[in-house]
Amino acid sequence: MNGQMMQQPLLISSLLVYAERHHGEQEIVSRRIEGDIHRYTYRDLAARSRRMANALAALGVQAGATVATLAWNGYRHMELYYAVSGSGSILHTLNPRLHPDQVVYIADHAEDQVLFFDLTFLPLVEAIASRVKTIRHFVVMTDRAHMPASKIDGLLCYEDLVDAQDDQFAWPSFDENSASSLCYTSGTTGNPKGVLYSHRSTLLHTYAAALPDALHCSAHDAVLPVVPMFHVNAWGLPYIACMVGAKLVFPGAALDGKSLHDLFEGERVTLSAGVPTVWQGLLAYVESNNLTFSTMKRTIIGGSACPPTMMRTFQEKYGVFVLHVWGMTEMSPLGTVCNFKARNLEQDSAERYAVQAKQGRVVFGVDMKVVDSLGKEIPWDGETSGELLVRGPWIVDRYFKGEGGNPLIDGWFPTGDVANIDVDGFMQITDRAKDVIKSGGEWISSIDIENVAVAHPAVAMAACIGIVHPKWDERPLLVVVRKPGAELAREQMLEFFDGKIAKWWTPDDVVFADTIPLGATGKMQKTKLRELYCAHRLPTV
Ligand code: ADP
Repeated sequence: MNGQMMQQPLLISSLLVYAERHHGEQEIVSRRIEGDIHRYTYRDLAARSRRMANALAALGVQAGATVATLAWNGYRHMELYYAVSGSGSILHTLNPRLHPDQVVYIADHAEDQVLFFDLTFLPLVEAIASRVKTIRHFVVMTDRAHMPASKIDGLLCYEDLVDAQDDQFAWPSFDENSASSLCYTSGTTGNPKGVLYSHRSTLLHTYAAALPDALHCSAHDAVLPVVPMFHVNAWGLPYIACMVGAKLVFPGAALDGKSLHDLFEGERVTLSAGVPTVWQGLLAYVESNNLTFSTMKRTIIGGSACPPTMMRTFQEKYGVFVLHVWGMTEMSPLGTVCNFKARNLEQDSAERYAVQAKQGRVVFGVDMKVVDSLGKEIPWDGETSGELLVRGPWIVDRYFKGEGGNPLIDGWFPTGDVANIDVDGFMQITDRAKDVIKSGGEWISSIDIENVAVAHPAVAMAACIGIVHPKWDERPLLVVVRKPGAELAREQMLEFFDGKIAKWWTPDDVVFADTIPLGATGKMQKTKLRELYCAHRLPTV
């Protein structure tokens, strides 16, 4: 017998309708590409999203068509999140940090019909405009006064489109399993693959991500997502903010320490989110200028492992609690969040930091397990590592257009991460399978080595990679970027590992570099480093 409750599809437009009705006066503040600060409310967002939905229809965009963006975090991008998905089309967020050839490949593969882009990306769009096969309209996300001269024919202006339309638009109702948005993995190996989210998966992810033991978002919060809206929907924050009625603060293109800190303070931000490399820049600025965070309570850090030294600095020096999270494009992205259980609150600080260095516990909806090389589940002992597999209603079933075949193993998605799980269910990533250093039949965690290295006061950044070794297969090489003006010799770096990790994990060599290459999502590019240093001769050879 069926239950007798209303059948209302879970649709993204309902988040906007709710935010307008119940938090209509709540603010959305954006640092614009045009240079100024823009303010409006959820009521304005809803009205302008409806105008944009009318504009999309006028451009001939139909349900199921893909509409692409190349844009920073800002209110116009937010309007497109709702206008495109809400009207039944698919929002395809392109990553502007990718190589132009990859952008062309992805836009063609997704069969994008319209491309909306920020002024910053005009050179990129001009470089690809004649190459992309399916894009019919190019729209600059600005007003008439800032429209650039361009060689692209028939370039459209965002504000003209909005102005030409009425703000009456009835969001259509349709199957909640319909596609809502599309994001491609960065494709560190091979071509990028598309992950096609649905309205249902997005709504379920939003409910779960907002929970107290997940990201703990509420109407009291002012949220500043540094994590870009062009990569995995800014970790869901544009949806979560509407669901809870939080104030939103968008940083635009200015992601340097000063610009971010000014916004944090000026807009009384309580919660932020980003990858560790972003926080490195911010902390360096705050420390060197003797500043503080007067309203920030929590910051979400993920995308790569958050070094414990960064957590200590945030928490002990600035009173900002670090929420360590783990996820993937394939997971919408949230998988685990490191929130304490009641018993952790009784532990001493060292024990709690050891817990916080882990990637955390699954949010309800995600199930996980680690398996050995034969696919057998490994017990939750907090020590034995294996490949991490996940399943759940916001986890990819197959890639867009079936690329790469069936990715699942008996209904579980293999993450490519190596991890262990402890008795309390805290998962710890020891490495990406392809980054793990295989030495004498055993595995060395590059993350553990990097975490120790960046705790040295002279180190700005550190990456550890495996270098081919005739006896041990691979041995670790540490690539270090020193802090400006700091002195650090190879031997001092190596001595710093004494007593902090197993002796045989200590890197065989250290090289100093000016920079470490970062990928399109702000992560250290180990594939690039391995290419750069493939000829490096270890002193132990
Ligand atoms: P890509 O970098 O290929 O675009 P994603 O942005 O989806 O992929 O990143 C997913 C991967 O990032 C995970 O599989 C994991 O390796 C890594 N990752 C994410 N969060 C963390 C974290 N907190 N600690 C360690 N690794 C992480």
